[in-house]
Amino acid sequence: MRGEELVMFCWPDLSGLARGRAFPVADLHDRLVKGIGWLPVCQALTPFHHLAEENPWGAIDDVQLIGDPKAQVRVDLWDDVPPLHFFIADAYELDGSPWEGCLRGFLKAALEAFEAETGLRLFATFEHEFHLESETVGPDFSLESLRLEAAFGALVTAALRAARAEPETFEPEYGAAQYEVTCRPALGVAGADRALITREVIREVARREGRRASFTPIVAPEQVGNGVHVHFSLIDEAGRPAGYDEARAGDVSEVMGRFAAGVLRQLPSLTAFTAPTLVSYMRLVPGHWSAGFNAMGIRNREAALRVAPIWRGPGADPARQFNLEFRAADAGASPHLVLALLVRAGLEGIREKLPAPALLEVPPADLSDGERAKLGIRRLPGSLDEALATLAEDKLVKSWFPPKLWEAYFALKRTEINMLGELEPKELCERYRNVY
Ligand code: GLU
Ligand code: MG
Repeated sequence: MRGEELVMFCWPDLSGLARGRAFPVADLHDRLVKGIGWLPVCQALTPFHHLAEENPWGAIDDVQLIGDPKAQVRVDLWDDVPPLHFFIADAYELDGSPWEGCLRGFLKAALEAFEAETGLRLFATFEHEFHLESETVGPDFSLESLRLEAAFGALVTAALRAARAEPETFEPEYGAAQYEVTCRPALGVAGADRALITREVIREVARREGRRASFTPIVAPEQVGNGVHVHFSLIDEAGRPAGYDEARAGDVSEVMGRFAAGVLRQLPSLTAFTAPTLVSYMRLVPGHWSAGFNAMGIRNREAALRVAPIWRGPGADPARQFNLEFRAADAGASPHLVLALLVRAGLEGIREKLPAPALLEVPPADLSDGERAKLGIRRLPGSLDEALATLAEDKLVKSWFPPKLWEAYFALKRTEINMLGELEPKELCERYRNVY
C-alpha cells in the first residue's frame, strides 16, 4: 500500500536543512496559489531539536510558504513507498510581501542587486562529498569502490535525473566510503536549489536502502572531510562568458578578479556561515585539501578559491569552461545563504575595484608569516566560536542582513555551541553525522 501521496513545501533553513509542511497531492493546485502556513520561529531551530535560546521570532508569528514550480522534485522509483515529492518554497508575510527571514529571498535579492549593478549573471554548481554507511570499504577512487556501490550510484543517478538536477558525475573519493556527486551548473537561484535537491535526493536513496548517506563536514576526527565546493562563473547580458580573459594572470578577467578579491577579503568572517558547525573546523585546516587560508591559486587544492582546470584539447571552448571553485563551504550551511554571500562579497569587490588576488602556486601554509601578510592572506578562524567573533565585528557583512535574520543566526549558533561545546571530538562528529 502506497497510501495517499504527500507533498512538502520546504525552505532552506539557517541550519542547512530543509524543513516545512506537507499536504495531500490532491490539493497541490490550490496550494501553489495560496501556499501553506508555517512558523517563522522554525528559522531559529538548531539541528539538535532545540530552538535558539533567544530568538527574534516569538510564539505568535506566522508566515506563508509557497512552493516554486521551478523547484519541484518528484522522484517515483520505489514500488512500496510513495514518491519523494517536495517543492523548495519562498516564505511570505501574510499580506503577500516577502518575509525577511527567507533565505531564498535573501539570495534572490543579492542576485538582483548584482545583475542590476554589473549587468552580469551567475551560474553555479555545488560539488558534494558524502560518506556512505557501508560494511565493505574499497580502495580510494577505485573501480572496486564504484562497483561496491554500483546499485546505489545507478539509483542516485536515476533519482537526480528524475529530479531534473542534471547529474554529471558519481565517483569514489579519497576517504573511506566517501563518494562525490556533481550536477550541471544552473543559473542564479536554481544553482542553490539544485544543491539542496542533490542532498535530499541522495539521503532519500540511502534511506530507501536502509542506510545513511551523511554530508557531515567530517565523519570522525582524523578522517577526510566532506567538502561542498561551489563552482561559479559569470555571463554578460548577451550570454557571453565574462569570467575569462586570456590576457590576464590565470585567465581571470578583471571583473572576476575583483569579485574574487571581494570574497577573499570577507572570508574570515564569512566562514561563520559557510562552515557553520562545530566540526567544520576539524575539516577547515591546512593540509586537508579544504581551505585553511583566504588564498587563491590556479588549480591549488589548498586555496579557498581555486581557478578550476580547463580542457584545451580539440573542440574545447576555454571561456565557457572557465570557473572559480570556492572550497571553504560544507553541508552544515544553507546553499542559498552561501551563494548569496559569495554574490554580496563579490559585488563589493567589483564596486570597490579591488585588485585581483595573488595566484599562489604553493599551499599557503608553505609561505612564511611575512610572505602571507604581504599578500593579505590570513588564516581562517580555527573554531566556530572564533568565526562568530570575527563575523560580529564585520559591519559590511552585517549591512547585507535584515536585523532579525542576523540576530537569529548568532542566537542559533551560540545555542549550538552551548549545547555541544563540551563534547569530545569523536562524539561531536557522531552528533553531526546523525543529522547531516
Ligand atoms: N575532501 C576535501 C574537502 O574536504 C576535498 C577533496 C577534493 O579536492 O576533492 O574539501
Ligand atoms: Mg572531491
